[in-house]
Amino acid sequence: MPAPTLAQILDMLVVDRLLHAGQKQDVLNRGKEQARHLLLDRRAELRRLLGRQRVSYSVSELELIASFRFKRLDAPDVLLDEETITEVVARHLGHGFIRIDPLKLDFRLVVDAFGGPFAEKNLVVAVEDKPQLMTVALTDPWNTVLLQQLAEFKGKPIRPVMAPKSEIMRVITEFHGFRRSMRAAEAELANNLPDIANLEALYRVSGMNELEANDQPVVQAVWYLLNYAYDQRASDIHIEPKREDALVRMRIDGVLHVVHRMPRTVHPAVVSRIKLLARLDIAEKRRPQDGRFKTEIGKDEVELRVSTVPTAFGEKVVIRVFDPAVLKQSLTDLGFFPRELTLYENMIRRPNGMVLITGPTGSGKTTTLYSTLNHIASPRVNICTLEDPIEMVQEQFNQMAMQPKIGFTFGTALKNVLRQDPDVVMVGEIRDPDTAENAVQAALTGHLVLSTVHTNDAASAVSRLLDLGVFPFLVSGVLTGVVAQRLVRKICVGCAADEALTNEQIDALNIRGAEGRQLRVKRGRGCVRCRGTGYRGRTGVFEVLPITPRVRTLIQSRASSQDIKREALNDGMLTLREYAIKKMARGETTFEEILAVTEEAALY
Ligand SMILES: [Zn+2]
Repeated sequence: MPAPTLAQILDMLVVDRLLHAGQKQDVLNRGKEQARHLLLDRRAELRRLLGRQRVSYSVSELELIASFRFKRLDAPDVLLDEETITEVVARHLGHGFIRIDPLKLDFRLVVDAFGGPFAEKNLVVAVEDKPQLMTVALTDPWNTVLLQQLAEFKGKPIRPVMAPKSEIMRVITEFHGFRRSMRAAEAELANNLPDIANLEALYRVSGMNELEANDQPVVQAVWYLLNYAYDQRASDIHIEPKREDALVRMRIDGVLHVVHRMPRTVHPAVVSRIKLLARLDIAEKRRPQDGRFKTEIGKDEVELRVSTVPTAFGEKVVIRVFDPAVLKQSLTDLGFFPRELTLYENMIRRPNGMVLITGPTGSGKTTTLYSTLNHIASPRVNICTLEDPIEMVQEQFNQMAMQPKIGFTFGTALKNVLRQDPDVVMVGEIRDPDTAENAVQAALTGHLVLSTVHTNDAASAVSRLLDLGVFPFLVSGVLTGVVAQRLVRKICVGCAADEALTNEQIDALNIRGAEGRQLRVKRGRGCVRCRGTGYRGRTGVFEVLPITPRVRTLIQSRASSQDIKREALNDGMLTLREYAIKKMARGETTFEEILAVTEEAALY
């Protein structure tokens, strides 16, 4: 079968009602010019990825069409991407199609089936190997010469499946690149520097600069790991020495996956490289160490926090990946509904007073605080933060890390920081009387104080302050508002489907007025984008309690949290559960997430 021409591929897209005839003509008219630009871009990218000057690349018809970034006729807010075009072409020509999930690939199969240069040249990735058949992802399943070559080479029939070129290239550069750098490192360590200690001595002598050179295999291996982690949205990288080899595992959407195994001999060098980046003491191996560094991955600056601990087989390293985009989300991206967003904005707009965020660890409080500070930040506002530890370094804030061991606590730091004339003070957490008292004083003396407490709901934050010894008249005087929050997983938009809640589910959520009615909700069926979980990303669920004059009176009379909550509910406050139910009704999250994350309000 001959390769489809550009015009034929465009016709397939027009027939499928993804493009209209005018857009087809547009590609035919401007295609040549566009392809030239694309080629330059892709070559530059490849040079950076492979770390060498000589690269060969040719632009395919499919990626050319994708580069026009047309909006799909059938779904105007979705771009016609390479993946969709590939799927359409495969279907029209009767070929199989596959989306490549790097985590589901067998690392050994990919790197062993075809050598790096061959895979790079022909863009082939082995995805499954059976005794009588090998399935290979490629970009041109009509290339009979290549298919024959593959079959002869492997000595068995080949089942070709079509996959987007960008996915194939990513797998090849990352998998083969990692393998190549591992091999080179192994060889280097075995031949030249049999003693690991010597290598480290060399590191110390040569210093940072020489190790930055791209041809260092260990440097490159670490670079591949970080790149891969970022691509896969991993939150943590674990490098764990075992008896035989070392495991590299990554946590993605809360679940750990094994992504690599590295030779025992290379492990110490990789660990040293990471420690060097984080400015840790390379020679110190018996004591746990912590450090951090920033690096550029693609266009983003990513912060990585490194911790090492000694284990029986060597040092274990855990790297936490901080995507600045996550911590710098805009207030409007956190999951507030318009009413709650307005209430919250009114609280933080005031020049003084205290706003508290409450919830358990991992409920998104830090993200909310950072987003709030970013929202407030301007050259005319002096923002000081007291943190334990500093989650993310940001230049426009004056950030201080607490050191409880030497007596530098939130309480003492607050006294110091007020001499720095801040407008806004963020205190990591109020958990002792000293901090509570100083935070209240700061709020009383003309500062906006943002902080967190550990309580189950918003109203209980008031009693928490009272329990810490703050007088009721002070609490009612400074407190502007409290926000309780949780995070629920978001339904994956790639595979969301309609369904109805069962009567049992409606009963379990105690949804009033719903008896005998059908409640339509959504659920993710599971797809490659969400790794079959049906969820992708998380969103906030909020209980926003503004301190109104009536609530103020209640606080002064030492009313119970229950009374305060009842008053707020009368005013229209949604409980965490009600808020989550509203999110479910809008197709953002599921029944199971609501049950897992929120408790039934005790008041009804
Ligand atoms: Zn999905």
